[in-house]
Amino acid sequence: MFRLLFLTCLCAVPLLSIAEISSPIVAIEFEPVKVAPHSYYVQGQAGAVSPDNQGFMSNAGFVVTKAGVVVFDTLGTPVLAQKLIDEIAKITKLPIKLVIISHYHADHIYGMQVFKALGAEIWAHADGQQYIGSTEALARLDQRRVMLNPWVDKNTQVLPADKWLSGDTAFEMGGLHFELQHVGPAHSQEDMVMLVKEDSVLYSGDLVFKGRVPFVGNADSRLWLQALEKLIALTPKYMIPGHGAASTTPVEDLKLTRNYLSYVRQAMGKAVKNFVPFEEAYANTDWTLYSKLPAFPDANRANAYNTYLLMESEGLEY
Ligand SMILES: [Zn+2]
Repeated sequence: MFRLLFLTCLCAVPLLSIAEISSPIVAIEFEPVKVAPHSYYVQGQAGAVSPDNQGFMSNAGFVVTKAGVVVFDTLGTPVLAQKLIDEIAKITKLPIKLVIISHYHADHIYGMQVFKALGAEIWAHADGQQYIGSTEALARLDQRRVMLNPWVDKNTQVLPADKWLSGDTAFEMGGLHFELQHVGPAHSQEDMVMLVKEDSVLYSGDLVFKGRVPFVGNADSRLWLQALEKLIALTPKYMIPGHGAASTTPVEDLKLTRNYLSYVRQAMGKAVKNFVPFEEAYANTDWTLYSKLPAFPDANRANAYNTYLLMESEGLEY
């Protein structure tokens, strides 16, 4: 009798743990959009991360070559990554061979482990190494495990890349040519963009915000401007940003972000130089060129203030 009970218990244990580790169902539906003959993306929902969007607020892309698939960014939860993999499998039976990470921010990297388990190789810029195990990374993961439970849980990990790239890298797969450019530090230290040459598609990560005022945050706008100039020089036909819809006018979009950042720097730089307090400088700046753009009410004041502080510290170069 005792033996029978013991066996029953043994049987129950794996059942329980399977239930515990099985992925919750993805309620959010998304479908890949084809932008060029080989290049696709999925578009995250607008707005900040929340249980309503299950962390689906960033984009990911993929390129189908004759020899396999290259994925750009992995979305914000392992469950979303699995959904992306299922969608890719509807388009091609070829394996996902390579995953490129634009930068180590939670909404782009929490799906990495699912691609890794499939056998894909992960590449990122070497500056991303600083993020692995950092206080910032651990705090962010804790926050998302609470906010995005059960989609982000104790099994969710931040993985290092299999290959840390030290600079710009070009490679070929299945007849397509790819260029990876390190354009950080701008939005992050390790920002990396990917150009698919035959398709003239640029996957730009979070460096570009299409048709709206960007969030500057703590980014260094001087370096960001340099990065934007590099992207403008690539003259892509299509651009897939880290958030929002793909663009068929990338050079125009890049110039809008560049012009905005450089306008804020000029206005705040002048104020710092003349010892004008921030409040007064902000009120006296003519914002009409940008005030009708989406995100202006939410972002502009903070952008101006951060730039003001930055320019105080960097000695007025603008
Ligand atoms: Zn980011």
